Amino acid sequence: MRLRPFELIQPDTVAEAVDALGRTDGEAKLIAGGTALVPMIRLGLIRPDHVIALHRVSGLAEIRAEQGVLHLGAMVTMAGLHRAPVVRGGWPLLAEAAGRVATPAICSSATLSGWISSKGRRRMDWRGRRRAPPRRS
Ligand SMILES: Cc1cc2nc3c(=O)[nH]c(=O)nc-3n(C[C@H](O)[C@H](O)[C@H](O)COP(=O)(O)OP(=O)(O)OC[C@H]3O[C@@H](n4cnc5c(N)ncnc54)[C@H](O)[C@@H]3O)c2cc1C
Repeated sequence: MRLRPFELIQPDTVAEAVDALGRTDGEAKLIAGGTALVPMIRLGLIRPDHVIALHRVSGLAEIRAEQGVLHLGAMVTMAGLHRAPVVRGGWPLLAEAAGRVATPAICSSATLSGWISSKGRRRMDWRGRRRAPPRRS
């Protein structure tokens, strides 16, 4: 299946990414690992005019703990989260869950921020199927 054409923007800094989000006409989408976004575009479920890649932005894969608070960059992958000693030591359930959320191949690219964003915004499951509306009691 052919991808509908879009402009690929590859900023080097967070400021450039934010600027690109603000100044582009039409629909713009950030892309992290691409494991959810690319299939959605291929299936025609979304049709962005611009895709803003985060992979060149430095510092976004950072994982650090400060005063008991875990700080995760927007490009931290599930595999990175699963392996990071600081997460395994302080947040072992998170580390364990991150390693089990999908296959190792998907976990090596899929980010937590992409997961949160794709689950929160759309009423779809991870296969792109529309979720049933919540039941009223
Ligand atoms: C074969 C296959 C198997 C999968 N298996 C599973 C599974 O078992 N369980 C599961 O939960 N998921 C699964 N997924 C779905 C997907 O891998 C996860 O949802 C993943 O975490 C998405 O992360 P990503 O970095 O690839 O996001 P992307 O695909 O890059 O982006 C997903 C969405 O998040 C937005 N986004 C990304 N980064 C940011 C950011 N920093 N700020 C704001 N918005 C952002 C994008 O614009 C897009 O709308 C699977 C996908 C595939 C293709």
